[in-house]
Amino acid sequence: MNKREELSKIAREIEACDECREQGSGRAVTGEGNPDAAVMFVGEAPGKEEAKTGRPFVGRSGRLLRSLIREIGLTEDEVFITNPVYYLPKRGTPSRESIRHSRAHFMKQLGAVDPEIVVLLGSVAGLAALGSPVAITKQHGSFVHHEGRTYFISFHPSAALRFPGTKELFEEDFKKLKALIRAEAQRHES
Ligand code: URA
Repeated sequence: MNKREELSKIAREIEACDECREQGSGRAVTGEGNPDAAVMFVGEAPGKEEAKTGRPFVGRSGRLLRSLIREIGLTEDEVFITNPVYYLPKRGTPSRESIRHSRAHFMKQLGAVDPEIVVLLGSVAGLAALGSPVAITKQHGSFVHHEGRTYFISFHPSAALRFPGTKELFEEDFKKLKALIRAEAQRHES
């Protein structure tokens, strides 16, 4: 099975998962992008727009994220964008229980894409990927090596839109990310 087939299989498993569906509403949002992506962006859970369309990050915070992805020289077609929780949560942020449950699907997606850099956008992404809480305001802009993967920690774009000053920090993080991507590319060339 190639990566694309593997990812569609995982997407079908998510759509067929009753436990995931019971924890939220709307359409399942199973992620999108390049199966061979070197960079994977991980958010929190679908919002209303995403639950309507079935696509990740298409609302207001998605517009910010996608514009920063382009600003650092990547195209949306070359990255993979997903969430560790696949349905619009019934209220607010996803419960610990839904993060714990969906983690199994998420880890399969991560393994299938097998990116060089995983960008964790906010604390839900941090908890799902690293298995323990991450202090975003302290750790944003830093890299974490965990179980053979390189993670880059940043804010969730909705925090960047909501809290004064956070957008600037978020943009600075993306500049650091650009430098890391360039260094990884050079490492591969040499
Ligand atoms: N927020 C997220 O975390 N993910 C989305 O897909 C949309 C908004």
